[in-house]
Amino acid sequence: MSALQETDPAVFDLVRAEVERQNDGLELIASENFVSPAVLQALGSPLTNKYAEGLPGKRYYGGCEVVDQIEDLARDRAKELFGAEWVNVQPHSGATANLAIYLAFMEPGDRLLGLDLAHGGHLTHGSPVNFSGKLYDAHFYGVDEDGERAGYVDLDKVREAAREVRPTMLSVGASAYSRDFNYVALREIADEVDALLWVDMAHTAGLIAAGLLNDPLPHAHVVSTTTHKTLRGPRGGMLLVGRDAPSPTGETWKKSGNPKSTGQVLDSAMFPGAIGGPLMHSIAAKAVAFGEALRPEFAEYQRQTVANARALAAAFVERGYAVVSGGTDNHLALVDLRSKGVTGKEAEAWLGEAEITVNKNMVPGDPESPFVTSGIRVGTPALTTRGFGEDEFRTVVALMDRVLASRGGDAEAVRSEVRALCDAFPLYDVPSLGTEP
Ligand code: PLP
Repeated sequence: MSALQETDPAVFDLVRAEVERQNDGLELIASENFVSPAVLQALGSPLTNKYAEGLPGKRYYGGCEVVDQIEDLARDRAKELFGAEWVNVQPHSGATANLAIYLAFMEPGDRLLGLDLAHGGHLTHGSPVNFSGKLYDAHFYGVDEDGERAGYVDLDKVREAAREVRPTMLSVGASAYSRDFNYVALREIADEVDALLWVDMAHTAGLIAAGLLNDPLPHAHVVSTTTHKTLRGPRGGMLLVGRDAPSPTGETWKKSGNPKSTGQVLDSAMFPGAIGGPLMHSIAAKAVAFGEALRPEFAEYQRQTVANARALAAAFVERGYAVVSGGTDNHLALVDLRSKGVTGKEAEAWLGEAEITVNKNMVPGDPESPFVTSGIRVGTPALTTRGFGEDEFRTVVALMDRVLASRGGDAEAVRSEVRALCDAFPLYDVPSLGTEP
């Protein structure tokens, strides 16, 4: 019997139930992935016991000799992976990483220009319900809602908005955008209005590390990311500055007395600005994940993730669904369900009954509320980790179409096919939980 089972059978049973849910269902949430057993082991280690406020070599606590080496490993591997001059691996999450960026570069009330949440942006890019929209004066750009480039960010419109708003910071990055960004052009726009360019690559970091999408690091003043999406590490965040990144020159930067380097300012914004003690077990798991990402298999995995997303989007189009922007450059697609008379909320619930997990999502120009929506977001990182290829993704779309076309009526029948598919691509054997592969 494991320690968890003996001490707390209620939590043990629930953890096991969740592992079984992950094993038995089709995970299509674009922001999720399955970490390796090695990452899990680091996360579950006694490193969780250690306080280590500060940075390696400059801590506010004793006994940090070992964790210093771990954080250095994580930082060095991240630098190698992304060609970064400086990184900070301490953000507890993507949102915490972004908080540090605001603290470093913006005064309350300063103007921000970011991608609209309803057009694929993230809460921390100025949404009124988030600190970023409450403390700063947030303005937005969006994607084209119709015409040939529907679903794409139009750079001319971003330029127009930047000239009008004159933001302190221009943010780029998304949670539900299936196309790549032109960072050279975005940097030109930022320079023209003397704004800092911040790229949040939370969703696409793994693809960028593998060289499959444009690299923001040479162009942005600062880059943030999560570590748990395409990057396939533990839940967490990271801040990076590229080797050839520009130095900030904006007004806020000048107000702060032109400090030594962008990295130093961000380090202080992180701690003591945004967090207390870093999560050393999580930093160890980040080091493991970055080590995995430096291996050739990781680039192969990312190539398959993109190939699978293209196959997934094409299969939806073949079956008469509208895919926002017509397809995808990355790991996700946004499916507009209006032509099928189904809402995102209905689709999420019906597919859930068949153990196919997706999230409802607004589509550009959505007439429904964010609680209902007209679309779903589907992504390939998690199932690609399980070994799915393009053929399996075409099968997944056929199963989804059956559930949606029957308005949930066929969900139970589809569920047994989902189980069979999952059994052919086993996920976890966690011996301490008594789960079978
Ligand atoms: N930035 C982007 C673009 C995201 O998609 C997300 C998460 O979905 C975040 C930041 C926030 O990450 P976290 O949930 O770890 O706070």
